[in-house]
Amino acid sequence: MDYVLCRSRRRTIGLSVDHRGLRVGAPQRATLKDIEALLHKHGKWVLDKLARWQDKPATAPLQDGSTFPWLGAPVTLRQDALSKRVCWQEQTLKVPATLSLETALLRAIKPKARTYLQARLEIWAARMGLPLPPLFLSSARTRWGSCNSKGEIRLSWRLMHFEPALIDYVVVHELAHLKEMNHSPRFWSVVEAHFPDWRQARTALRRLAPELPVY
Ligand SMILES: [Zn+2]
Repeated sequence: MDYVLCRSRRRTIGLSVDHRGLRVGAPQRATLKDIEALLHKHGKWVLDKLARWQDKPATAPLQDGSTFPWLGAPVTLRQDALSKRVCWQEQTLKVPATLSLETALLRAIKPKARTYLQARLEIWAARMGLPLPPLFLSSARTRWGSCNSKGEIRLSWRLMHFEPALIDYVVVHELAHLKEMNHSPRFWSVVEAHFPDWRQARTALRRLAPELPVY
């Protein structure tokens, strides 16, 4: 089994699988023997996960008429010789013929993602009685959000592919870290107080991650 090993100040060994393959996060003091023992123990889980990413059909290159998921519903990409800039029209995104579809798509998505995610963060921070933290966007594919010790929140613009409830779960999760900087039962009770269906949302995000478009 091939894997990428990342040593850090974490306290336990963690495994994660995504489009890049298997990654192992390990504390500085963990030995290779410890790591291989853990891989052996979770071999089936790892192989199942790797298979799920590999079974995924290669994403077709974007073309005029391609669709992409946006807030859980498909949006059609249309090349338009007359447009000078990207333009949203309900479930269609018109893009100028002078840009590559990929460039046009990212140019359209990122500012929308920032506005949307900022608004959700404001709503949930107020509901949770928290001061509004600074928001940064990332492009992460499986680490949907993170919160650092400075109280800054990072959210992946790729979240915009999911339905609104899943996005809200990630927002609530990261805001809850401003109260509890860990994943202790106390942390989950903060999440649950504001988002009772967090378990379903967490499972859905894991299931949907391999199906997201790659760009
Ligand atoms: Zn967390």
